[in-house]
Amino acid sequence: IVSVRDLRKSFGALEVLRGISFDVPRGTVTALLGRSGSGKSTALRCINRLEGVSSGEIFVCDRAVHSPDLNVRKLRLDVSMVFQSYNLFPHLTVEENICLAPVVARKIPRRQARELAAEVLARVGLSEKIHDYPEQLSGGQQQRVAIARSLAMEPKVILFDEVTSALDPELTGEVLRVIERLAEAGMTMIMVTHEMRFARNLSDQIVFMHQGEVCEAGPASILDRPQTPQLQQFISSEL
Ligand code: ATP
Ligand code: MG
Repeated sequence: IVSVRDLRKSFGALEVLRGISFDVPRGTVTALLGRSGSGKSTALRCINRLEGVSSGEIFVCDRAVHSPDLNVRKLRLDVSMVFQSYNLFPHLTVEENICLAPVVARKIPRRQARELAAEVLARVGLSEKIHDYPEQLSGGQQQRVAIARSLAMEPKVILFDEVTSALDPELTGEVLRVIERLAEAGMTMIMVTHEMRFARNLSDQIVFMHQGEVCEAGPASILDRPQTPQLQQFISSEL
């Protein structure tokens, strides 16, 4: 469903992605791991076309994301991204935050969008917060609303960029459980995370990046028997 082929991305003279390739089959979870600055966020941002690529190809649901002719609006209907900072609108209620994009971008009638909001909120276990404002919620709850907002777009792929990094450990678990349930429901996901145990347990595929390259990739079990010194070092530094 997602295919990244020899992707390169430079910012000026700095080559951040130096020819990375990986495939994400439908209904699977891929964890992008790597040290700070290895290019994980940049890779996700290229997949979602928040960044243009320098060279190489990216396909999402058979759409050529690298093409200058890409219809970005249509791409964003297929792929949704959740960030470390939840980016909720503070002056809108939870329900309004969730309904906004479906109404504006998917042209869904408002009443139907409200039904959708109720449904996705139930999926993240926050039905009772529907009329609250973001500031009335904990960080973990806000992040679950942000995930619900993504779900309301009914995307085919969700990208998660360190969605628990800003959270206290006790709030991290509730967000990870939501992601776990999505995986069980068959959602296709690519996640950047430093939660190694979570990545080990949930992922169908690990892509370990080092200095803008895919250094080691394979099933989650590669974390038990890393072949490269870079991955060995990364794992011991994350313990
Ligand atoms: P972290 O774990 O800290 O989030 P990361 O693996 O997500 O790191 P990226 O954010 O992809 O790393 O950044 C990779 C490199 O690209 C870094 O050296 C960063 O400074 C650089 N970089 C990222 N975005 C830009 C930009 N818009 N302009 C210039 N350089 C950038
Ligand atoms: Mg990052």
